[in-house]
Amino acid sequence: MSGSSTELLVVGGGIGGLTTGLTAARSGRPVRVLERSAEFGEVGAGIQLAPNATRILHELGLLEEIREVGVLPRRLVLADAMGGGELGALDLTDFVERYGAPYVVMHRSDLLDILVRACQAAGVALETRADARTLVDDGAGVDVGCADGRTFRGTAVVAADGLHSRTRALFSDDETIGSGYVAYRGAVPMDQVSRHADLRDVVAWVGPGLHLVQYPLRSGRFYNQVAVFRSRAFGRGEPDWGNPTELDEQFARCCDHVRESTPLLGRDNRWPMYDRVPIPTWVTGRIGLLGDAAHPMLQYLAQGACQAIEDAWTLGAALRRHAGPSGDGVEAALLAYQAVRVPRTARVQRTARTWGEMWHVDGVGRLLRDELLRRRADDDHTYVEWLYGRGTDGADAVLNGA
Ligand SMILES: Cc1cc2nc3c(=O)[nH]c(=O)nc-3n(C[C@H](O)[C@H](O)[C@H](O)COP(=O)(O)OP(=O)(O)OC[C@H]3O[C@@H](n4cnc5c(N)ncnc54)[C@H](O)[C@@H]3O)c2cc1C
Repeated sequence: MSGSSTELLVVGGGIGGLTTGLTAARSGRPVRVLERSAEFGEVGAGIQLAPNATRILHELGLLEEIREVGVLPRRLVLADAMGGGELGALDLTDFVERYGAPYVVMHRSDLLDILVRACQAAGVALETRADARTLVDDGAGVDVGCADGRTFRGTAVVAADGLHSRTRALFSDDETIGSGYVAYRGAVPMDQVSRHADLRDVVAWVGPGLHLVQYPLRSGRFYNQVAVFRSRAFGRGEPDWGNPTELDEQFARCCDHVRESTPLLGRDNRWPMYDRVPIPTWVTGRIGLLGDAAHPMLQYLAQGACQAIEDAWTLGAALRRHAGPSGDGVEAALLAYQAVRVPRTARVQRTARTWGEMWHVDGVGRLLRDELLRRRADDDHTYVEWLYGRGTDGADAVLNGA
């Protein structure tokens, strides 16, 4: 048996798990993160962090470092993937005054590096090659058994083990839901890029059944692209659905800019887009879910990681309010966390689906969308206030007695 029985154990060392390691350690308790891979890291691509997440990263003292390696874009733009040209935009330049933190785009591996270093500095124990297979809650603590025979005992377990979470089976027998869409993504050095959008913007080129998102990374030295399309082969039940041939066929119908951008996408990896339906319960006794394990969503709002960061922040607040360093009160902390995070993330999951439908619509719906977007002012925050606004993550509610 490794570790001490007063530790909080976090299963999964992605953005959600590492941020939880940090917030839990800052709440004054020993923490250990168990990651099944050989190292903490992610396949290279960009990530968008909205102010609901960067506000928390600022509170954690990480925003300066993030700003150094990230880019602060000027606008979020929706453009027409078929005909070219802008449909609408959201001005991001006043986000610090409006929401207390900027909109940032950055490389995922840079974010993971910053989180790992912050965890190490906070004394979080980090274990790699620790594939958690069994969890046993005996009422006084939880034993975690790993595939290599190692075991850990902790006061509680937070499972941040992602979309295909094994721990989720404690709460639901649901399956991941395939949307039939697939993503190709990749960041390449800027000197390889022959065609790019305005480098001060995040641009989503949207069209019937597809879209392409583009933005710069690392002070404009890299260019990030994510291309997503609805696979016809998925509908026909073909096993190799969403392959690169389909990618090229689908984007061949787009405007010059979009069509000529896609050859730079990495072809070796592809990400089928899955989510799940919101569930009401993520906590039983001393075990709780967090991040994609709890609320996997389609990526159209660019909020999956942001919500995992909100989860971690709120859980840290709940631990501070309800639990002592030795673990007493940890069950109450998990329940308080669940009470505020379930409704918030369910709304984000559902809205992400609707957002995807809005991006990919055709026919009359497309005409109406374009008309609506063209009439919107760049400083109209109607659709994002609930998502980005201060106090929306639930941490204040927990500290004030939720
Ligand atoms: C194409 C695409 C674009 C996206 N863009 C954005 C964006 O711009 N902004 C945004 O906020 N979100 C975005 N997301 C969503 C975001 O990537 C996820 O929501 C986020 O990574 C979830 O973090 P997590 O820590 O919960 O899970 P994961 O990142 O999946 O991490 C889970 C970790 O747990 C480990 N693990 C799994 N099982 C075990 C086990 N048994 N034992 C130990 N370890 C285990 C895994 O190895 C992994 O490291 C995007 C997603 C996609 C697919």
